[in-house]
Formats: sequence, C-alpha cells, structure tokens
Amino acid sequence: MRKKIIVIGAGLAGAVCAQTLHAAGHQVVVLEKARGVGGRMSTRRISTELSGLGLVPVTFDHGAQYFRARHPEFQRRVALAQQQGLVAPWAARHGKVEGAGNLEPLTPDNTEPAARWVAVPDMPNWIRSLLNPMTVRVNTRAAALTMERSAAGELSWTVQDEQGATLETADAVVLAMPPAQAAVLCAPYQPTWANHLTQWPMDPCWTWMALTDEIKIAPSDIHRKGWASVDSVQLLDHPLAWVARNHHKPSRQLAKGKEAWVVQASPAWTTAHLDLPAAEAASAMQGLWRDLLGPAAREVTVHYQAAHRWLYARAGLPAAALPAELQQAAWVDEKLGLACCGDYLGYAHLALHAQPEAPPAALARGSRIEDAWWSGWQCAQQYLAAWGQA
Ligand SMILES: Cc1cc2nc3c(=O)[nH]c(=O)nc-3n(C[C@H](O)[C@H](O)[C@H](O)COP(=O)(O)OP(=O)(O)OC[C@H]3O[C@@H](n4cnc5c(N)ncnc54)[C@H](O)[C@@H]3O)c2cc1C
Repeated sequence: MRKKIIVIGAGLAGAVCAQTLHAAGHQVVVLEKARGVGGRMSTRRISTELSGLGLVPVTFDHGAQYFRARHPEFQRRVALAQQQGLVAPWAARHGKVEGAGNLEPLTPDNTEPAARWVAVPDMPNWIRSLLNPMTVRVNTRAAALTMERSAAGELSWTVQDEQGATLETADAVVLAMPPAQAAVLCAPYQPTWANHLTQWPMDPCWTWMALTDEIKIAPSDIHRKGWASVDSVQLLDHPLAWVARNHHKPSRQLAKGKEAWVVQASPAWTTAHLDLPAAEAASAMQGLWRDLLGPAAREVTVHYQAAHRWLYARAGLPAAALPAELQQAAWVDEKLGLACCGDYLGYAHLALHAQPEAPPAALARGSRIEDAWWSGWQCAQQYLAAWGQA
C-alpha cells in the first residue's frame, strides 16, 4: 500500500531516506527549518565589491569539507553522482601541523580510501538533486508531533509548527536531524530513544570564512614555505583544527590574486568560546590564522570575514552503552511509524559493528557524511522491509 511519509530534516540522511522511499513508490514530503537544503553540507555564497575587479562572487563550504567513500554501496552512489556531474574528486595537497611544529605533507592513511570527494558546484547540490522530484518545504520548523489512532486502529501523524498549526499529516515520520533536536520531537512517543538522544555527545565548531589578498610567503620564512601552495591543513594540539583554501576545490574558482579561506576551530577552543558574538569569534579566529601563517598573513588585507557557530558539528559515541536493539544505523519503530536517522546513528553502528571497510583508525574522528548516508539509506530499507518491499 502506498504510504505518505514526512521526513523532517533535509541533510544528507533525510535526503537519501526520502529519495529511497520515493523511488519505492511512496509519497514523501520533506520539512526543513533552514532556508535551503543541505544541513551540515552547506556552502555560503557572497558577492563583494573589490577595487579594480567589481563584484567578486565567492563561495565558502562552511560545514563539511569533503567526504570519503568506504562502503561499496556508497562508492557506487558516489560514482553515479560523479557521472551526473554532482560530485568531483578533490586532488588536493594536504598538510599537517602538530602543536608548534612546521607544516608537513600529510602522509596517506592506509586505512582510508585515497579519494576525497566534494559536491559540485557547492556542497548542497547533491542533496538538491536527490530531493528534486519531491515536495520540500524550507523555512519550516517542525515543533511537535501528534499521533492519532482511528476507530479502525490506523495510526496517523501530524506535524505542527511553533504556533500549533498543522504542517503536514502522514502515515509515518522520519526525524533526520541531530540527536538533541530529534529528542524533543520523539520524547512523548519513544522516551527511551529521547533519553539516549539527549545525552549523545556532539562537538561544536566555530568556522571562520575569509576573502583575502593572496598570501605571499617570503622565501626567507623557511618554516612556512609549505603554506605557499598547500590546499588544506589538519592541525593537532592547536586552537585551530583545519585551514583550507576553499577556492582550490573543484568548481570554486576565484578572481586572480585573491584567496577564500575556511578555517575551523578545535572542539576545545570552540567550547571555551561558545558564547562569543559571531563578530568577536571572527576577529579572534582571524588572529589565530594570522599567527599561524606568520608575517605574510599579518600584512594581508581581509576583504570579507564571517564566523558561523555549529552547535552540533560532529557526533561522538554515546556515553551510556546502547541496548542491542538500538545499535542500529537507524531507529525505526515500524508499528508506530516513527524513525530516527542521521550521521550519529550511522557512526555508532559502524563503530559498534566495525566492518573491514571501517577500521578503528577511521572511526576516531567523529561522524561524517558517509555515516549520514548509511543511516538514511538503512532507515528507508527498514521501513520498506516492514511494508513488505524489501
Ligand atoms: C564544521 C563541520 C565540518 C565537517 N567536516 C566534515 C568533513 O570534512 N567530512 C565529513 O565527512 N563530514 C564532515 N562533517 C560532518 C557532516 O557534515 C555530517 O556528518 C553530515 O552532513 C550530517 O548529515 P545529517 O543529514 O545526519 O544531518 P544534518 O546535515 O545536520 O541535517 C539535519 C537537518 O535537519 C534540519 N532540522 C533540524 N531540526 C529541524 C526541525 N525541528 N524542523 C525542520 N528541520 C530541522 C536542519 O536544519 C538540517 O538541515 C562536518 C560537519 C561540520 C559542522
């Protein structure tokens, strides 16, 4: 029987779940509180007036930076998306800085697939394409769920906005959002889920975006010469965790002589500065970036800067042990018609049931795009199996 499903959250997990259910013949409506789809796969586009150049368009991927594909099914989807022009490999020069050390080339990690992928021309584009044939209501925050049982015993769900007005009614609901946000919606119907969700650890992340003149590292600055050409740098034991030249990614070209930087603070620095106003966080991170890159960066003009705070950037593993029935890549209560999916569940599932494609070293870094895909896909598969469509 054809079902109607409301998917709340248009990140990758929600998009994959919605697309899989839609492809199986069901009616799917997606609700998204932000003004566009993508969730943490997001790109900020600005245009700024620069003397001699006019209006210069710039993009900053201020959420996820790139992704890898380990699972064979995900590899197949990524290959298909590449054929469709939705993703491209990022053949970048990556580096690493430990503490006060110098920049070193990042040696390939044998536990990881070599290829790093980005969606093109921006991060949400792949998600836009997945959701293309469906009804997607953006600027629409789901504030509460109500479940009703008809005289015939059929369950139906209503999603309400903050004023209590009905947004949509359906046979089943998928909560495809970070755990703390899902907990609020599912608590009346699945208190055990809500209890685990409210305690799920998530690291926050301040991200700095800046358009600058080109950095010219002086030949005499021998400790920093690698910075002249590197595309991205991971930092350990440092207030910053990631520095990237966003315009070096595929399809993100920039006017000559300018650079577009995306810089992430470490979880520790972010936590210590969580309540800073965005303008102050931007200034503080600009200072850290200038110190890191040395004299060349101290002189350079910053034409545009902004800071974005992610309260829920990447998930860790749950503090309390999960019961066996919750060690799943998605939580689906088929009888109720209620489900949760998201990167955090995909990540925990891979970590708890580590597969050859996901060795421990690859799991130490928090939840990622592939985990979101895995969870969204598994969520749809579980619903389809319950509806006799496995
Ligand atoms: C700064 C940063 C850097 C990262 N770097 C990487 C990286 O380099 N590589 C990598 O693989 N991963 C990275 N990640 C993690 C990756 O982005 C996530 O794992 C993945 O995008 C999560 O997808 P999701 O669908 O589970 O959740 P989300 O993308 O968070 O989607 C959830 C959606 O639900 C919406 N929503 C929430 N509540 C409601 C509501 N009540 N009503 C309606 N809509 C709602 C949100 O607006 C959001 O769009 C990074 C994340 C961040 C923040």
